[in-house]
Amino acid sequence: MMAEPLIALRGITKRFGEGPAAFQALKGIDLDVAAGEFVAIMGASGSGKSTTMNILGCLDVPTSGAYRFRGVHVEGLDRDQRSLLRRRYLGFVFQGFNLLARTTAIENVELPLLYRGEDRKVRRAQGMSALDKVGLAAWADHSPSELSGGQQQRVAIARALVTEPDVLLADEPTGNLDSERSVEIMELLAELNAQAGLTVLLVTHEPDMAAYAHKVVHFKDGLVERVDAREGSVPPQRHPHTQ
Ligand code: ADP
Ligand code: MG
Repeated sequence: MMAEPLIALRGITKRFGEGPAAFQALKGIDLDVAAGEFVAIMGASGSGKSTTMNILGCLDVPTSGAYRFRGVHVEGLDRDQRSLLRRRYLGFVFQGFNLLARTTAIENVELPLLYRGEDRKVRRAQGMSALDKVGLAAWADHSPSELSGGQQQRVAIARALVTEPDVLLADEPTGNLDSERSVEIMELLAELNAQAGLTVLLVTHEPDMAAYAHKVVHFKDGLVERVDAREGSVPPQRHPHTQ
């Protein structure tokens, strides 16, 4: 039997609003992501990249179509089950870092564990381990305002990793950073992918950033326009394409 991809989207549509004001943001997205793959999503502003990421991340639901995650039919889950799936398997990184101000780096990183009800000792140990992975253990007691933009994004990555997700969803994570900081973030994501086997889905506008990925999915007007496999980069678990 063929291994099921980690993520499979089939014919995903999303309509915002009703009646004449309705807007069809996604018109039938098909996407496969294998475990251990590093996938970049590119496309013009408004092409549906963030809408797709929000659906993948169980932050939003499609209007129609099928989303299977590890073989589970996500569209058949209720709200609570979707949020369990999200908290157990998925990590998020956004363009704006979304850290709590006046809260130290380690406290920010520990937050998902607090929501999960872990005790203080476990939170601190796992939080410090996550901060160490992004090279910021020495900055644990600093607040976001004392950190550079690149460091803040690394804290946000540590917060996403602290629950040991299967997949990291990063929506324009370098959009607020200069090119040097952007390269540091991309190298960190590539290292987490190659060494820890983390599956990475990245939205980016910049071809330089997409060059880190195994494959690049180009969006246009709510559809996948084409998928480019990168030469010389072979995803760990290949599966045949159906398109
Ligand atoms: P991208 O991330 O590729 O720039 P988005 O997925 O954010 O694009 O948005 C796709 C389209 O859907 C855009 O035209 C946007 O204005 C529209 N859109 C996104 N979210 C909403 C919403 N909550 N309500 C109405 N329209 C939306
Ligand atoms: Mg977007």
